[in-house]
Amino acid sequence: LGPTITVGEILVEIMATTIGKGFLDAQPLIGPFPSGAPAIFIDQVAKLGAQAGIIAAVGNDDFGRLNVERLRDDGADVSAIAVSPDFPTGSAFVRYANDGTRDFVYNIARSAAGEIKLTDAAKSLITRAGHLHVMGSALSIPAVWPIINFALQDIKKRGGTLSVDPNMRKELAAGEETGRQFATLLKATDLLLPSGDELFVACPASSESEAIGKLLASGISEIVMKRGQKGSALVTKTGSISRPAFIVDEVDPTGAGDCFGATYLTCRRLGHSAEQALDYANAAGARNVTYRGPMEGTSTFRELDQFIAATPRK
Ligand code: ATP
Repeated sequence: LGPTITVGEILVEIMATTIGKGFLDAQPLIGPFPSGAPAIFIDQVAKLGAQAGIIAAVGNDDFGRLNVERLRDDGADVSAIAVSPDFPTGSAFVRYANDGTRDFVYNIARSAAGEIKLTDAAKSLITRAGHLHVMGSALSIPAVWPIINFALQDIKKRGGTLSVDPNMRKELAAGEETGRQFATLLKATDLLLPSGDELFVACPASSESEAIGKLLASGISEIVMKRGQKGSALVTKTGSISRPAFIVDEVDPTGAGDCFGATYLTCRRLGHSAEQALDYANAAGARNVTYRGPMEGTSTFRELDQFIAATPRK
């Protein structure tokens, strides 16, 4: 099969434990937690026992070591994580508003993540890979664009596949070139994993069905819609399947989408049916939101089987 790989930001996250207050009042803050959407995604792939690697950069500091050690311990290939001598590991602060939305304060652009390079180790990982997953958040880092383009060409040439999670964060820059990179990627995408309005970011349209129709016609074979507490749905040219969410007490929503996407993709690559993959992915997302910290609730198949057996669905 070849490893699943991704490219992008590795960060630490510091989170507010009080809801609805500004950052200055949101005491106590907790963390640092290993984070960054691509890192959470690849940690979840590795936890499922599949080959997984990430092209990234961290600083020569404790925050970087925290992330690399976690990813390595969980089974990910960390050979293409460079250690920057000049820039620190990035950080993100998150707080939750009363209406359930989140605000992030990112420090990525001037961190090691802004300096990701196509190193020999990155090339070596790419040439072994069978699947590339791209997070929209990573596209806000210009240094990532040439790496994704190189990886895409190399992996597709060898019959590999591409998945994209639009994963837009309003706080991260989405300039014109980011939009162009996103549009180019969509043309080569096999699996798209939008949540909420991200479908319309991928394809402006007046209705969900119009957007889905256009995206499928453009060559995407599977669109998997993440719907939070409403579960998820797969739409293909031949029909759609919906699967209900699990009922859990959410303590921290961040990372659910990354765990969901990693689990759906990995199940499909391992040959599971779409229904099974949606159920496992719903379980991975739901289980993750019961842990504080975005990477603290990534799951093994054994943990997912136990969770599914013990948890009611909506
Ligand atoms: P994030 O950006 O926070 O990582 P997302 O917006 O990309 O997440 P969501 O739809 O919030 O994605 O979550 C992904 C999946 O995780 C959902 O489709 C669902 O299966 C599961 N999930 C998320 N939140 C909950 C919840 N509160 N209860 C049950 N399942 C949930």
